[in-house]
Amino acid sequence: MQNPTKFAQTVGLLAWLCLLIGAHIKFVRPVFRRYPIVRGYREIAEKIKSFNGRHTKLSGAVWRTRILRSAYRIGFTLLTLPFFVGEYMLHGHHFVWFTMGWVVAGFGITVGYHRIGTHPSFKAPEWVRAILLIMGSMAVQGPVSEWTKKHSKHHAFGETSADVHSPYVFEESKRGIFIEQFYAFMHSFMMWAFREPSLRRPKGMSIEDWKADLLNNSPDPATFKFREEDRNYWEVKDKSGKIVASTETLIKKRWARFVDVIVGIEQDKTITMLGNPLVYIGILVVSVGAPMVLGGISIWEVLARICYVNWATFCVNSVSHIWGEQPFQVADNSRNNAVVEILALGEGGHNTHHKSELWAQHGVFAWQFDPSAMLIKTLAFFGLARELNLPSRSQLKAAWRSWRRREPTMQGYAAPTWEQSISPSLVEQISAGEEVSV
Ligand SMILES: [Zn+2]
Ligand SMILES: [Zn+2]
Repeated sequence: MQNPTKFAQTVGLLAWLCLLIGAHIKFVRPVFRRYPIVRGYREIAEKIKSFNGRHTKLSGAVWRTRILRSAYRIGFTLLTLPFFVGEYMLHGHHFVWFTMGWVVAGFGITVGYHRIGTHPSFKAPEWVRAILLIMGSMAVQGPVSEWTKKHSKHHAFGETSADVHSPYVFEESKRGIFIEQFYAFMHSFMMWAFREPSLRRPKGMSIEDWKADLLNNSPDPATFKFREEDRNYWEVKDKSGKIVASTETLIKKRWARFVDVIVGIEQDKTITMLGNPLVYIGILVVSVGAPMVLGGISIWEVLARICYVNWATFCVNSVSHIWGEQPFQVADNSRNNAVVEILALGEGGHNTHHKSELWAQHGVFAWQFDPSAMLIKTLAFFGLARELNLPSRSQLKAAWRSWRRREPTMQGYAAPTWEQSISPSLVEQISAGEEVSV
């Protein structure tokens, strides 16, 4: 180690950031989680209105909640500043280039490859979409054509034996369960990338022939496996218990939909162009070379950025399918994971994403963190994105209520009654039938 003091300071700053985030997740996030969306805006006003029928303005309590929440967010951001300033003072332009590389390739994956490339969750002018996809290509996660196809398969067959990267253990084996789970985790984390066959169209084969060939190669129902918890999604029965849609039918249906999606990707001109090996390698060379030539950054520092972005993505596929919250009921084990939300720029809101892959926002609740959605909304503000597909407030409230019913204690935090969720004086006024003053 060339400079132990500098190393210790770097680790110290990192520890400070982890401590802050840990405290937020442990103590503050659960408080936010009590309310389905930003409680204290419209909800309280509606509640008050339903009590006295006259009140239409936001009450003082509403403003207090709003100010407190904003103050907390600003305060938290200020507390994280020493980390960024300190790292800059220690590492100067090296830190700046690392952060820039992470932000460009990171958002390239989340907003580019994922939220507009695989799932058309918003629309953008073709040149904006192309820039986002080029940014994604810089992450060294394979060309966009391959990434989007494999990810579509994950959505069609999540947590089944046909999934691309499920951490679920299907096979009984002589190995102990811990070892088995460790292997399954490593498979979902990164080993799948070396095992999963390519979905590239063979050279010389027409799209029609390729589509027909794919349709003939759906997963075999005889060897197809799914989690027992997901049986209702893979074997639909009527009230009397008669099977109305068999596993075989459902596999065929999902496979046909998946084939349609990847044929659509194959016909996408921008994706095909960026998937060309020469173009892809060209982008890689520029993204690795530019920081070295322009910023004097070593190859190891570029590799560190590539590792970080890749590991964050790997965490979405593995960690977010094992640990976290499940506000939405879905046909797989996807979870909203607070840590992955931070590491992977909002992609940790993975249960929400599996509920509807077409929502442009994965952090839909007030307690979640989704900088990728912030970027999409910023693009929309400047007219560079449009037709954002977002869940409605009633969908979110319904999901939150059903979650509260399924997990009454919300992992240790009892759901408050509405009386507990607003100020005592307001409860008194409403209970006495008084008009609530602003
Ligand atoms: Zn997933
Ligand atoms: Zn997705």
